[in-house]
Amino acid sequence: MSSFNWCHGPTCHTNDTQDRLRGVKGSKVLRTRKVKQNTYIGMFSYFCSNGCYNSFANKYIAQIIAIAPRTEALETPVNVDKVQDTYYNGQSYTRVEISRVDNN
Ligand SMILES: [Zn+2]
Repeated sequence: MSSFNWCHGPTCHTNDTQDRLRGVKGSKVLRTRKVKQNTYIGMFSYFCSNGCYNSFANKYIAQIIAIAPRTEALETPVNVDKVQDTYYNGQSYTRVEISRVDNN
């Protein structure tokens, strides 16, 4: 099993950086970056940068959304209370405090 993935950014190989340069004089190329694998499982196992991740997401957004389409709004039950509080200068004010409803 290889210990790296190629960056999945669709335009990774078009960025003009020295670390992407490969080949000998006269036949140089810009190559997709390798992404080292470690214990972190997530986007940085497949993308060398946020820019490459964003490029991938923007190019394939229709397919990505098709994995788990959202057809209804989600809701989180909360309690809303008005709480009297005091500024550092002693002046009192009312603030809204939002807390989660414990459904257990
Ligand atoms: Zn990349």
